[in-house]
Order: sequence, then structure tokens, then C-alpha cells
Amino acid sequence: MSRTVTKPSAPAPKQMGPKGRDPIFDELGFTTDPDNLYLQTVGVMLHAADLIGLPHRVKIILTQPQSEIMVHFPVKMDDGHHRLFKGYRVQHNNAIGPYKGGIRYHPDVHLDDVKSLALLMTFKCSLVRIPFGGGKGGIKCDPRAMSQEEVMRVTRRFVSAIYHYIGPDYDIPAPDVNTNAQIMAWFADTYSSLAESNKNSWDAMRVVTGKPVEVGGSLGREKATGQGVVDVLVEMLPAMGITIEGMKYSVIGFGNVGSWTGRILQKLGARCVAVMDHTGSIRNDSGIDCEALAQHVAKAGGVGGFEKVKAATGAGKKNGSGATAISTEEFYKTAVDVCIPAALEQMIKEKEASWLNCKVVAEGANAPTTPAGDRVLAKRGIEVLPAILCNAGGVTVSYFEWIQNKACESWDVERVDKELNRHMVMAARRTILARQKYECDTRTAAYIAALDNIAKVYAVRGIFP
Ligand code: GLU
Repeated sequence: MSRTVTKPSAPAPKQMGPKGRDPIFDELGFTTDPDNLYLQTVGVMLHAADLIGLPHRVKIILTQPQSEIMVHFPVKMDDGHHRLFKGYRVQHNNAIGPYKGGIRYHPDVHLDDVKSLALLMTFKCSLVRIPFGGGKGGIKCDPRAMSQEEVMRVTRRFVSAIYHYIGPDYDIPAPDVNTNAQIMAWFADTYSSLAESNKNSWDAMRVVTGKPVEVGGSLGREKATGQGVVDVLVEMLPAMGITIEGMKYSVIGFGNVGSWTGRILQKLGARCVAVMDHTGSIRNDSGIDCEALAQHVAKAGGVGGFEKVKAATGAGKKNGSGATAISTEEFYKTAVDVCIPAALEQMIKEKEASWLNCKVVAEGANAPTTPAGDRVLAKRGIEVLPAILCNAGGVTVSYFEWIQNKACESWDVERVDKELNRHMVMAARRTILARQKYECDTRTAAYIAALDNIAKVYAVRGIFP
């Protein structure tokens, strides 16, 4: 890319509160807990906002979500007793388009985490320039300890509890951690059954994306987040002296994002040398077969035990001849070019950041690196490609699904992949330009590239009344 950029004049230095705390946090009554994910996420956003001189009125709007919906609902379990579940939907911002973002099922779902993830969606959608705002939701539950029937009843009952707050042109959920296409099918079916007019029930299926293709899902949606991670790596790594073919990498989490990223990178000749998830860590310096590992995880529920399975089946011969179980510390210390965290938030803290032995961290998960972790990585010269850029592929193909549904069309996978690549490459280039222009780190640059778009929308729309 050969575009010259001029560094803008530096904004007037800001009066920070005690301990460098942004005064907006006190103005809006924020917690002082430095480990709070929402405080951390907003802190990054405000830093970027200050660099571009974003008006105070837009900053305070973006600092809190527009709505926080919390519901409690009873569900009859298989053994006949009723359990009360807690569900959330946070709608962060819809200045650019309908609220958009996944629904997760996890025992650790908390309001401030859902708020952070909703904010990240606003920035992700803006960075890849798709006409959506940001939202996120979840149910506090452990789907691994529930039957399929129970998961279905919880899903349907949750939809009936939040039905009035969502809609195909208002707020559009999607899969996230522990949710999938089947859950989206139940979600859409329940929503459309409750729709005001039966005549609209097919159109009402647009209320969620990430559906199975049989009910309007898009080809290429399942692998989209992983594909997007790879598109960003292909675009950005060469400038960092890393070529995909032969590149060594490690993955944290082998669910949808981690396993698809691994499978696609494997086809491009990269070598996965270590994987860690909630069930254990494995390593093989001559390469772990990601296809075989994905099959194992589908059956066993995690990567743990893969070392034994491989010995028995010979799976993974193509890349290597087995894997060894290793400790968490060994996982982080394994030498790789790129480490791809693709599990939950706040995994790379100071300790993990000091252990990492890589050149680049590519965030496949949302918010996997804490600000303290970020500082350690920066000191050690490790580049971080932030989540709002790296994992925006999922929501981008969700957008394609939504427009296919609106137009009653169905695109072939080549078209989906090509359009996705275009959005990811442009987002990466916007980020690089902002990094050069503001001489900042890549995370701040991605926020700046996203904020720039949001700021323009607020400038022309104004603020009601
Ligand atoms: N849950 C995914 C994310 O965090 C996808 C959201 C969507 O498709 O709306 O980006």
C-alpha cells in the first residue's frame, strides 16, 4: 500500500483523574475495580476517542449501552422440576444500523461482560463497515450439563422473555460461545411463531443469523470467523516478516473459531504446534492435524485425551506423528510465530503475556488480552492484532445472511468468501493507515478506524432532540 499519511496535530492533553483514571468514569459512576472487563474495554475506547478528539457528547453515549435487558424465566427440566434461569440482552448502540451480536450460554455470563461484548460488536461492525450496531446476550447456564431437549426449552423460553426487545430490523442475535446453528433454528422458529402476524412468519426468521442453511442460513457462515482470522493474517503477516506457509502457531480454544482457523491455516501450509482448552493442552512440534483434532473435540468435548486417540488411530499422520500432553505454562512457552487465543475473555494477563514465546498474538476470541497483558506484550515487542479486526468475519457473514434473507437469495460459497475477504482486507488496511497516522498500537488504531465512521454518523445525524 503506498498512501502517504500526515500525522494530525496532537489533541490538547487531557486532565486525568487520580491514577490516570478517565474523568468520564467518575462522571458516569463507573467501578474502580481494575479487573472489571467493562472498565477495561471502555478504557481502550476512550483512549482512541481522545486521540481523534471525539466530542464529549459522543464519548458519553458510547461509554454506556443504550439498553440493558435482564430477564428471569422458569424452565421444566428433564427430571420434572423447574429451574429459574437468568438471561441478558444488552443493546449498546444502533446509530449505524440494527443492534447485532451473539447469544452465549455459559455459567460465567455476567452483566458487565455482556456489556463489554456488546460494545465490541459496535466497533467490530463499524470497522468492517457493515450497517449494524452492537448488541450481545447470554444465558447463565451450563449447556454441557443439560440435555438437548433442555437446551431447546431454555432457548425457546428465553426468546419468549425477550421477544418484544428484538426484531429482524431492530436487534438480530447470532451464535456465540456454546451456541450454534441448531439453537438459532429454535430461536428463529420461536420468534416467528410469536410474530404479530402469521403472514410475516417467514420474514421473521431474519431475527437471527447463523441459522442452518435449510432455514435461510448462509453458506460459509459456520467457518466465517476462522476464515476472517486467516484473511487478516494473510493480509498483515508478510509486513511482519512472517509467511503463512510453514508458519508455526498455537491456538487457545478449539471450538468454532479455533478449529476453523486451524483447519483453514492447515490447508495453507501453516503448522499448528500447540493447542490448549478447558480440558488440557497438547503439543507436537512437527504439527497437529487440525482436522483429526476437530473430530476428536466433537466426540470428546475438548482437546484433552487427543494424545491417546492419535496413537490408536494414526490420525494426524499428514502433519506429525502424535501429540504430547503438556502443562498450561508449557503451552504458553511453546515457541511459535503466532498465538491465536480463540476461547474466552481475559485469558492473557500479565503472567501469560510474560510466558508467551511468539511474535504476534491474533485475537480470535473477544477481549482475550487484558490491558496489563497488553502492556507486557508491548514491552516485549509482541504485536497484537485486536479482536475487533481479527474476529469480525463471523458478523460480516451474518450480514451477508441477513441481506440474502431480505432479498430471498442464496449466494454460493465462493461469493461469500470473496466478499468476506474484501471486508476483512479493507478493515486491515484502515487499521494500518490509522496506526501510521496516529503512531499508536494496532488495537488503538482499529478502534480509531471504527470510531472515525461512528463519529461521522453522529456528526450528520445529530443527537435528538
Ligand atoms: N458472536 C459472534 C461475534 O462475537 C458473531 C456475531 C454475529 O454474527 O452477529 O462476533
